[in-house]
Amino acid sequence: MLLEIKNLHANVEGTEILKGINLKVNAGEVHAIMGPNGSGKSTLASVLAGREEYEVTEGEIWYNGKNLLELSPEDRAREGLFLAFQYPVEIPGVSNTNLLKTAVNEIRKYRGEEELDAMEFLELLKEKSKLVELDQKFLSRSVNEGFSGGEKKRNEIFQMAVLNPKLAILDETDSGLDIDALRIVANGVNKLRSKENAIIVVTHYQRLLNYIVPDFVHVLYKGKIVKSGGKELALELEEKGYDWIKNGKSEVT
Ligand code: ADP
Ligand code: MG
Ligand code: MG
Repeated sequence: MLLEIKNLHANVEGTEILKGINLKVNAGEVHAIMGPNGSGKSTLASVLAGREEYEVTEGEIWYNGKNLLELSPEDRAREGLFLAFQYPVEIPGVSNTNLLKTAVNEIRKYRGEEELDAMEFLELLKEKSKLVELDQKFLSRSVNEGFSGGEKKRNEIFQMAVLNPKLAILDETDSGLDIDALRIVANGVNKLRSKENAIIVVTHYQRLLNYIVPDFVHVLYKGKIVKSGGKELALELEEKGYDWIKNGKSEVT
């Protein structure tokens, strides 16, 4: 198993947001996590990334045979975990190319592989930028600085393609994308799909899942996974909306 989350509870600023998450992800699988705004989807992604403001109070996360919560955010990245955030950060003064060169070679060193030389690295960038139809001029620009919302999302998928992660988590990479950008992003993600790696797609809307067809769909609501199913669950949510889940919960309680 690539990722196993057991009874995960997490606080943000003293408030419990995640209230007992259980999730198993195998290599080769694509999981979608859906749910209304404020459910804790981004909180879950942030905990996986190891963001400091998020305090795990209970539970365990196992990733690729390692206790994820004991790894620094840098080591998580070196272990092949990649996160595309809902709000990608801008890094003025650091070009896309330099950021990726450092990251790629860090990962290779960690794996005991030889670093890529300048030519090999440029070839890799060229190939992957074509994949996401990213104009070459973005390579030399500062990371995300002055990029439009859609360009930032596309750049995230480009970074993902270059890094070739074992587990990629995409937090609402679809929000703010027009239909063409959506297709490009989905295409980039689909190219990454393989038997060796897994992808968790976090989304509020079903739309993206027409292009990235998930093996499993989970609904996160008020910090818990309240429903899991196959790809048809996303269509059911599209049809019935989240009130169905919310009402279902209120009938139970
Ligand atoms: P989603 O991604 O599903 O929309 P979030 O994980 O962003 O949900 O938010 C879940 C809850 O946690 C919300 O009530 C939100 O206000 C709160 N929250 C998330 N991050 C922070 C933070 N850094 N500080 C305070 N509250 C936060
Ligand atoms: Mg939100
Ligand atoms: Mg969110």
